[in-house]
Amino acid sequence: MDLMYKSTRDSNNRVLASQAILQGLSSDGGLYVPENIPVLKKSMEELAEMNYQELAYEVMKLFFTDFSEDELKDCINKAYDDKFDTSEIAPLRKVGQVYYLELFHGATIAFKDMALSILPHLLTKAAKKNNVEEEIVILTATSGDTGKAALAGFADVEGTKIIVFYPKDGVSKVQEKQMVTQKGSNTSVIGIQGNFDDAQTGVKEMFNNKELAKKMLQNGYRFSSANSINIGRLVPQIVYYVYSYATLYRKKQISRDEKINFVVPTGNFGNILAGYYAKQMGVPINKLICASNENKVLFDFFQTGRYNKNREFILTTSPSMDILVSSNLERLIYHIADEDTVKTAELMKELSTKGSYEVTEKMREKLKDFVGGWASDEETAQAIKNIYDNDDYLIDTHTAVACHVYNQYVSETNEMTKSIIVSTASPYKFADSVLRAINEEGIPEDDYEQAKVLQKLSSVSIPKAVEELNNAPILHNTICEVRKMQDTVEKILNLN
Ligand SMILES: *Cc1c(COP(=O)(O)O)cnc(C)c1O
Repeated sequence: MDLMYKSTRDSNNRVLASQAILQGLSSDGGLYVPENIPVLKKSMEELAEMNYQELAYEVMKLFFTDFSEDELKDCINKAYDDKFDTSEIAPLRKVGQVYYLELFHGATIAFKDMALSILPHLLTKAAKKNNVEEEIVILTATSGDTGKAALAGFADVEGTKIIVFYPKDGVSKVQEKQMVTQKGSNTSVIGIQGNFDDAQTGVKEMFNNKELAKKMLQNGYRFSSANSINIGRLVPQIVYYVYSYATLYRKKQISRDEKINFVVPTGNFGNILAGYYAKQMGVPINKLICASNENKVLFDFFQTGRYNKNREFILTTSPSMDILVSSNLERLIYHIADEDTVKTAELMKELSTKGSYEVTEKMREKLKDFVGGWASDEETAQAIKNIYDNDDYLIDTHTAVACHVYNQYVSETNEMTKSIIVSTASPYKFADSVLRAINEEGIPEDDYEQAKVLQKLSSVSIPKAVEELNNAPILHNTICEVRKMQDTVEKILNLN
């Protein structure tokens, strides 16, 4: 029997995994969720013996039931290959009393590679399976890392085009350079004069625009999404929660069924939601610790049960988490509302009309899997410095947010549960902020020169992704106003 996916806003809207992947967002504006969360079939002993690819198959086959074994294995082998600079794909590193799960060993040195190296393969197979003849246009809003990872994944993939919108003044220098130097005849990159939420709202509006969809179809196109609203991104992210737990077990760091915490630097709530699904699948997880930067909507939500985006949008040193509307929270809301699509739709409507909503007491009860915390830019910098000084380990700003929140959690609870900090980007991606944090004097202006300093300090060699940027020609320079996003898309696609 196939696992079906339904919209968080309409229980009659049911589709297969491949159809959910193709559509990205459901036509009623909701997000696709699996009708039930499958449970891991193999024992931890068996899982612990698997490599990343084998484990990925074990997890994904339970969710993507309308893909054949050959199809899934082909996707997995094409995704998790030597694009990653280690055969472990997602290595765990013990530093002091905690473990860092390094998810930045892929092509664009941020965790988005974990899902975006497989999504193009899932998507093209899904298109074939459903006899889709139109060219697929991936429309993506990015806070910096999704954009590049999606561009890298979809560049020159036959039957696809990709258009990425990023906040012109809201990403790091390296992030911007990575995107505007992207090769591939099917790629477009556009800076908008607004923030990430503007970009995400603009993209969602285009997805929900029925007239635009019709026009697209007449011109032989259809939209899909590479954002974490796509279930095809969420499921591959479950894999590393299972894998890291299994790795700790194999290395005899934990005993059978021992519960551990995961600390997750969070923006759009995609990564941590994958952890929640891993827990439902049977991975022994105690708390999922949700770490925010100064845009602490999620922290406030876990404190009070009220989600309120009516506040100043703050540009921080962890730009990939500068988000006030965490899209994937909608999936959690649906689950804690006992899968009540009417209630979920009602709350999401409040969010779009009033900018806030409040969950019921009964729903709040079900948030006990989560703990919220946040870090200021200053605390983030201090965390980078402390770990560098004490443990000789360099972390990026996003990981440092998680690190600060973890330390705070431990000092408040005195809890000694073993914990994994999910490390979402290489320090090389945010070299400027990292160098400032460790008080390096005379920081060079040029980002490649900064990388050289980091290399000296960290004894980790400069990643290929950064080497490639040196002297790479700029291939994209379009800037547009927020209200011109759709016009820009129509122009790129030559719609008439
Ligand atoms: C995207 C991103 C995050 C936030 O992940 P979400 O799934 O959006 O919560 C954190 N850190 C880095 C480096 C990222 O690129």
